[in-house]
Amino acid sequence: MKKKALALALAACMAASLAACSGSSSETTAAATDAETTAAETTAEETTAGEETEAEETTAEAAETEAAGGTLVMATNAEFEPWEYHDGDAIVGIDVEIAQAIGEKLGMDVEIEDMAFDSIIPAVTSGKADFGAAGMTVTEDRLQSVDFTDTYADASQVIIVKEGSDITGSADLVGKKIGVQLGTTGDLLSTDLVGDENVERYNKGFEAVQALLQDKIDAVVIDSAPAKAFVSQSEGLVILDEALSQEEYAIAVKKGNTELLDKINAALAELKEDGTIDEIINKYIPAE
Ligand code: GLN
Repeated sequence: MKKKALALALAACMAASLAACSGSSSETTAAATDAETTAAETTAEETTAGEETEAEETTAEAAETEAAGGTLVMATNAEFEPWEYHDGDAIVGIDVEIAQAIGEKLGMDVEIEDMAFDSIIPAVTSGKADFGAAGMTVTEDRLQSVDFTDTYADASQVIIVKEGSDITGSADLVGKKIGVQLGTTGDLLSTDLVGDENVERYNKGFEAVQALLQDKIDAVVIDSAPAKAFVSQSEGLVILDEALSQEEYAIAVKKGNTELLDKINAALAELKEDGTIDEIINKYIPAE
C-alpha cells in the first residue's frame, strides 16, 4: 500500500479516538490478575505451539465451535512489549489484559495463540482465531480482509538508531538500511521511504534491534512503545524525536462477523467508560 493510502486510513481512524475516563479500580485489578493467571495457564498448556503459523484450515471449525461454547481464541505475536510479550512461561501485556477484560464482560474465556505477526490476519480470516489483538494498526489495506473494532489506543512509528548515528530524522534515511518487523506498518512506511531493496524484514522486532546493534542495518522503524522497551533493554540505542505516523490500534475480527464485532465493541465501550483500558495501559506505559 502506498503511503498516501495509509495516511488516509490512519486519518479516518482518528475520529474514533480513545476516550479517557476515570473510574474505580477494584474490579479492574481483579480482572488484571485473572488475565495474568489465565495467560500463564494458556501459555503453560501451549508451550509446544511456539511460532506455529500454518495448519489454519484444520482448526478453523474448532475455533468457531469453541467460541460459541465460551472460549475466544486470540491470535497475537508475543514479541511486542508492552502490548504482548513473554514473561517467563506466560504471555502478558496490554492486549492480553484488555482481551481478558473483554472476555470477562462477555462471559467467555480467552485462549492465546502466539504466531508470526503476518499470520494473524490469515488466522482471523480462516477462523483459526476469533480475533487478532497485537498492537495492530487499522489500515485501509487490512480493512479489505478483516473488520476492526473501535480503536483502543494510539501509536506512531519511530526511528531507533545507535548513539552517535548521523541519522537525525527520516530525511537522513534515504540510501540507508532499515530493519523492520515483517508485514507491519513500519515495514510499509520504510519501504515507501527507502525502497524495497533497503528494507530488512525480521519476524521479531528484537531481531531487527540485534541487527542494528551489530551494524548490519542503520536504523529500526517500529511502534513507539516497543521501541522504548527495546532501547531500555540495550546499551547504546536512541529513539529519534520525529514521529513517522499517527496510528490507532484495534482488534481484528473476521469480515462480516458483526455479532462478535458488536459484542467486543460494547465491552470495549464499557471498559473505556469505567477507566479499565486507561488503567491497563498506564500499568504498562506509566505516564511520563
Ligand atoms: N502497529 C504495527 C502494525 O500494525 C505493528 C504491530 C506489531 O508488530 N505487533 O503493523
